[in-house]
Amino acid sequence: AKKKQATKAILYNPDMHESVSRDLIIQQELKKVIERGELEFVYQPQVDATRTWITGVEVLTRWSHPVLGPVSPAEFIPIAETSGMMEKLTRYQLEWCLKKFSDWRQHFEFDGTIAFNISSSLFRNKNFIAFLEQVIKEYGIPFQQIELEITENIQLFSHKESVQTLERLREMGIRVAIDDFGTGYSTLSYLNKFPVDKIKVDKHFTDQIMVDEKGEAILVSIIKLANSLDLDVLAEGVETEDQRDFLLMNGCDDMQGYYFFKPLTLDECEQFYYEKVLK
Ligand code: C2E
Ligand code: CA
Ligand code: CA
Ligand code: CA
Repeated sequence: AKKKQATKAILYNPDMHESVSRDLIIQQELKKVIERGELEFVYQPQVDATRTWITGVEVLTRWSHPVLGPVSPAEFIPIAETSGMMEKLTRYQLEWCLKKFSDWRQHFEFDGTIAFNISSSLFRNKNFIAFLEQVIKEYGIPFQQIELEITENIQLFSHKESVQTLERLREMGIRVAIDDFGTGYSTLSYLNKFPVDKIKVDKHFTDQIMVDEKGEAILVSIIKLANSLDLDVLAEGVETEDQRDFLLMNGCDDMQGYYFFKPLTLDECEQFYYEKVLK
């Protein structure tokens, strides 16, 4: 009887059941909101902390479901990736955000960048890349103001065609940033083989400041490496003044994080610009 019960517990593990159906529900519901164009986007400023200057914004997706409530992109993006929804989601995001951005850059004479998170699978997709180029041109945005954030990924960098695509985009003037730098595989080895413009050092390293000396040493050496390879280096997840000061002292002036700005809605961005810039 005991054995039977154990089997039953495995088959009907209520936790497992719940998480499987949550993923499925998210998948189905997300499909609907993407089709209806009901996702929302927020913009987190990136700053140059020496000049306290906004150098760009990163687009992040937001979704609040009537029953599930707000669902984190850390949860739904992986589901969208495994169920083949990223192309549609990203196309919709580019179309929507570039339209807004084109109004914005004219209205505020904003010459900073707009950064998009692009799943690495999309670099293998010729139709998507063609769409990307076309939509940037359609809204008349200089390529230099577009940044693509890609997470380091061994498959991407060993896939010849993806690398060629990225090189071509860079030749057009589009900027390429490596996201979450330091968390993936073989982080340093490809930097000289594969030209990128910028690395975004993962929040994990920022969190080491004033906490762990060895962690700090690794962070400092990443910054030095980036500077010596003539790459821009941005620290993610900066939350405190101490972190800002440490980064500035060690040669990293590009930063992003709650210490400066949380991700803002378009209205909040405009409010900020009216108050701080136009006054
Ligand atoms: P990410 O690209 O590394 O984005 C940074 C995440 O850290 C964002 O979380 C942002 O809100 C959060 N963050 C920024 N500053 C701070 C800080 O000072 N402290 C803390 N604790 N967090 C901070 P978010 O928006 O929840 O996104 C999570 C991840 O989901 C992103 O990580 C990105 O990988 C993915 N993601 C979000 N939107 C999109 C999208 O539209 N497309 C793709 N492909 N991925 C997306
Ligand atoms: Ca990112
Ligand atoms: Ca990141
Ligand atoms: Ca810089």
